[in-house]
Amino acid sequence: MLTQRQLFLQHNAQTTLEPLLLEFNKANGMYLYDSQGKKYMDLIAGIGVSNVGHCHPAVVAAVQEQAASYMHIMVYGEFVQSPQVNFAKALADVLPSNLNCTYFVNSGTEAVEGAMKLAKRYTNRSEIIACYNSYHGSTQGALSLMGNEEFKQAYRPLLPGISFIHYGALPDLNLITSKTAAVFVETIQGEAGIRVADQAYFEALRKKCTDTGALLVFDEIQCGFGRTGKMFGFEHFNIVPDILLLAKGIGGGMPIGAFISSREIMISLATNPILGHITTFGGHPVSCAAGLATLQTILNEDIVAGVTEKGLLFKKLLKHPAIKEVRGIGLMMGIVFENFDINKKVIDACIKDGLISDWFLHCSNAMRVVPPLIITESEIEWACSIILKNVEAIA
Ligand code: PMP
Repeated sequence: MLTQRQLFLQHNAQTTLEPLLLEFNKANGMYLYDSQGKKYMDLIAGIGVSNVGHCHPAVVAAVQEQAASYMHIMVYGEFVQSPQVNFAKALADVLPSNLNCTYFVNSGTEAVEGAMKLAKRYTNRSEIIACYNSYHGSTQGALSLMGNEEFKQAYRPLLPGISFIHYGALPDLNLITSKTAAVFVETIQGEAGIRVADQAYFEALRKKCTDTGALLVFDEIQCGFGRTGKMFGFEHFNIVPDILLLAKGIGGGMPIGAFISSREIMISLATNPILGHITTFGGHPVSCAAGLATLQTILNEDIVAGVTEKGLLFKKLLKHPAIKEVRGIGLMMGIVFENFDINKKVIDACIKDGLISDWFLHCSNAMRVVPPLIITESEIEWACSIILKNVEAIA
């Protein structure tokens, strides 16, 4: 009989020729358990998803309760479905007043697609600006915004009318003009290896968009929902986007994405033509129930409060001549090594020791540290001791 691993390689589409092939059958809090019962600490939260930990009891209960009440009943936007209503209201309550209207979709990529269409429709312009080294998703629209030619070239032609600016570079903001429909920026760049631009940049970016009438779109799909030490990344800079994109962590482990704007902007998708953006499963009731439980858990357990300090503890402990820098903000960090070879060896050794990490799409010499936000001080100490032991042995 073939093993699960063999069946996986035979019948499941592969995204690389060297998948990790770890096989898990349980996840709880900070930990994943493999088929032999070995325990692994998850230092990457399923890539920025499990912010409240795996299988948080409140999320599991909400999923079970909603699944037993109703699952899919109608395409998005026609019936009043209380899980969607309650989650959208709860989001509006924690967001600035102009971000009061949420369109729920199924993934981050779909949130990006929806926002591109919304910006074109609302501004009646077609040009879009994105950043070099960005990652916004894998569908053809989102891929068109990706700031890395290596991943795009095989799929051209992609969308026309897209130009690129360097994240954090003030002079590049002059590319934003009265022809620009929208500027898509990851508030904190994720796959670039965790980069954080400064206050002056964000102020100038906001001003340029306002002056030209371009919509400012913040992709907080990776950095949103508490990860940076504030509920939303843009709160660090006291500016507010016109459209906010969320996904990954907002569902507590269930698939959901959202693009959020003002009602005035959002209503433009409903006319000329009607049904400007439609989705069958977007805002699935079970995912929305999970999302609301996740948001309530973050608020009730005051999970964001400890994030900055926890990030600083990582930075304090991860001192070694082979570690060039621990870059990032809150619990969104990259440990920078000299090159990919060292990084890969350290990551492989850590996984053997039961600590899961990986590297970044556009930054192969940095190791990802984006754990569930519930990580404790002693768990941080353990993770750092494993990383340092392996760095010492390898670098
Ligand atoms: N934007 C950012 C910043 C992301 O990190 C990701 C996923 N890594 C996406 C968009 C795409 O999200 P999804 O994989 O859910 O489509």
